[in-house]
Amino acid sequence: MSELRQNFATKEWVVIATERARRPEEMARHRDRKPVASFVANCPFCPGNEKLTPPEVLRVPASMDVPWHVRVIPNKFAALSRDVQPTRTVHRSRRVVNGFGVHDVIIETPDHSQVLALMPDSYVAEILRIYKTRYDELSLDPRIAHITIFKNHGPDAGTSLEHPHSQMIATPVISLQVRERFQHALRHFDDYGECMFCQMLEEELEEQTRIVMVSEHFVALELYASPAPFCTHIYPRRHMASFGDVSTAEMNDLARMLRSTLAKLYHGLADPDFNFTIRSAPAENVGVKYFHWYLSVIPRLTRVAGFELGSGMFINTVLPEAAAEFLRKVDVEIAKDAAAGATP
Ligand SMILES: [Zn+2]
Ligand SMILES: [Zn+2]
Repeated sequence: MSELRQNFATKEWVVIATERARRPEEMARHRDRKPVASFVANCPFCPGNEKLTPPEVLRVPASMDVPWHVRVIPNKFAALSRDVQPTRTVHRSRRVVNGFGVHDVIIETPDHSQVLALMPDSYVAEILRIYKTRYDELSLDPRIAHITIFKNHGPDAGTSLEHPHSQMIATPVISLQVRERFQHALRHFDDYGECMFCQMLEEELEEQTRIVMVSEHFVALELYASPAPFCTHIYPRRHMASFGDVSTAEMNDLARMLRSTLAKLYHGLADPDFNFTIRSAPAENVGVKYFHWYLSVIPRLTRVAGFELGSGMFINTVLPEAAAEFLRKVDVEIAKDAAAGATP
């Protein structure tokens, strides 16, 4: 029987439509992915084309005498600009802030054909450390209220550039959605004296049914009220409000966890398009006891349609428990070796 489940953290309702449920493996769309070259002459992110992008703000390694592994550049077509001041104007019913913001692109590798799911964990850790370096820097800017780190992989996830990259947008305002989630978390803390995410993690670890993987410092799980099939969250096991609080040891573990999660999706669901996003406390809420940061991976296997737009409720056709069981069984180490063996 279908059921409506409520997301504990956001209070949003989701229809888990088991009547039209599909087996997890049926969600894999075996599309003909064209073979991708490791270098594309006209790609602005490929090595040798650095002049096609704005000057970089950061690179690894820092020395210009050796080839780069990761570059951070301002987005050439930035949604917001760092060259204006966030001046706020209120005129009758209209409220506006000048388009101030920072929009970075993180070029994850010089190799055009590489994907995070198949990279060595140490490369993924390097990218995550770059996220943190920029996140920490931008958090100190008093004009910035909130930072979103995200990746769009594939056309259904909204990317137009094939070369592996992620993005970071820092804004001078906090969205209503982020604000409301904070208020739920604060209210829960006031009512019960504990972080609602820590409570949820404890329960999930006890029940085990939605857990995908557990490592020393992180847990990957399917949400009880997952709005979409295989929407996977990675939570730090230690209470931490901000992504900026991650220690060096935890970062290496997070890289392993993220890479393994992406590899399970890659091998289990035939390289689906996906987004991931890091949900972290706004700059003004660093260190709070009531919010817990996490990384959310959302494979784009279904489309948002009229019901979702009209009701704000999603329909999920895969039981989160079945999705977790399916992902647990995808052996990423074996799969990774097989993939490596197939590459000359
Ligand atoms: Zn490229
Ligand atoms: Zn917590």
